[in-house]
Amino acid sequence: MEDRIGVVSRAENRINISPGPDVNTFESSRNFGLSWSRNSVMREYFISHGRFSKEMSFICSGLRINISKSQLLEWESPRGESNGRLLYSGVHIYEIIIRYCVDYWSTVFPIRVSFFNGANQDETKITWVSWDKVLASKEHGGLGVSSYFALNRALLLKWMWRFISDDGSLWCQIIRALYGPRIESHSTNLPSNWCSILREVHNLKSHGFDFWSHCRKRIGNGTNTRFWLDCWIGNKPLHLVCPRLFMLELDKDISVADKMNGPRSFTFRRPIRGGIESQQMDSLNDLLQTIVLSDSNDRWVCDLAGDGSFCVKDIRNRIDDVILPSTPIPTRWLKIIPIKVNIFMWRARLGCLPTRDNLVRRGVLVDSTACPSCSVNEESVNHTLFCCDLARTVLQRICRWWNLALLDWISFQEWHEWFLSIRMSSTNKLLLEGVFSVAWWILWRFRNHLIFEDIPPKRSEIFDDIVLLSFNWCSNRCCKTFSWTEWLKNPHCISL
Ligand SMILES: [Zn+2]
Repeated sequence: MEDRIGVVSRAENRINISPGPDVNTFESSRNFGLSWSRNSVMREYFISHGRFSKEMSFICSGLRINISKSQLLEWESPRGESNGRLLYSGVHIYEIIIRYCVDYWSTVFPIRVSFFNGANQDETKITWVSWDKVLASKEHGGLGVSSYFALNRALLLKWMWRFISDDGSLWCQIIRALYGPRIESHSTNLPSNWCSILREVHNLKSHGFDFWSHCRKRIGNGTNTRFWLDCWIGNKPLHLVCPRLFMLELDKDISVADKMNGPRSFTFRRPIRGGIESQQMDSLNDLLQTIVLSDSNDRWVCDLAGDGSFCVKDIRNRIDDVILPSTPIPTRWLKIIPIKVNIFMWRARLGCLPTRDNLVRRGVLVDSTACPSCSVNEESVNHTLFCCDLARTVLQRICRWWNLALLDWISFQEWHEWFLSIRMSSTNKLLLEGVFSVAWWILWRFRNHLIFEDIPPKRSEIFDDIVLLSFNWCSNRCCKTFSWTEWLKNPHCISL
């Protein structure tokens, strides 16, 4: 037992003084979704058992899954005890967690995809929407699931951010001693973790995300900011704005404070001449007119967050926006209806439902392409949700219920144009769109029951289901409540 306490303490001590990303720290573990603290249950469990439990390993991985009840993964203890002697030592404890997480990420990715597609791991199903579209943000037409690629890069960039922000930690000092004080002079060719992080930043730039373009210095007293080389005024460093003046500069690393406290040209190797040099001096003076130094320290700000702080979530979203596919039409997402209905609507609008015409297009053999409801026309998304007699009847009843003029739509585009044109308060429109979404979801559910259930569903219940389900879902998700009678009689008069 005492051995284990010693092992844990040594591990914690070694980790807490670790030289940064080479060994990793527990702070980064929190970013990864890992949880560990000196007094945590995990620590006590490890001390008394000499290993982590299955559940704890999943707590480490950031998912609160009771693995003993789950069939997703089989558990094997990464290291065990031999002849009563503990094989864990020092940072190995943390390495185990990290190694387990790496395995976990590679395992959980296909689980994620299979789960979304409604398939078990050992079976394949048609993928109706590409996974990249699912990951993309809602503003770009996706579902906003977000990728692990972006998350991992954002976490790596946090190391960059911590280095340039100089939090005074030991690992920062070691990196500075090994590679130099300026990050732009650090080599990317060496086989070290730090260099591989730097390489990843360069790779991101080639993908279209330039992290450094979002970082700038906010000037306080100007002592820790290089006048020419740091980006602290405008969008570019001054050596790019005034290259001819920079060539005249004797002290290329001169600070803002030193440069501002004297004539601009006092560190030039010769007086400036007319022409381009004079022009650049004029524009430099114009730029510097508004700069007033204060007593506070200079600090780095990241322009991806409103308050200038580094936020993994913002970086992750931005990387996703750059690398994932984007459509000009944002995803319509209604908070007043359940996620499953929103996802159904997203797929329906993309035309990615497994209707019979889509199945034939994918090479699936089907007995008939006819609509299972009317048996007249070919089944397509637009037919099932708009043109089929059943759909038209249902949608028209909704219009009567909401006191709206009756119209026939043949596609989501037509319906959407009509929806934008009707006069109604925005909150009522929200409810109305929710009702239509529920109606389409129920029509699709009816179609599935018709095909796959032995007992055919009743058409007469469709509209009642729409009214009841939309009331339950919408009323429970709205800030204000409304009565069932109100919903039945005057839904268009409900004020939220
Ligand atoms: Zn039909």
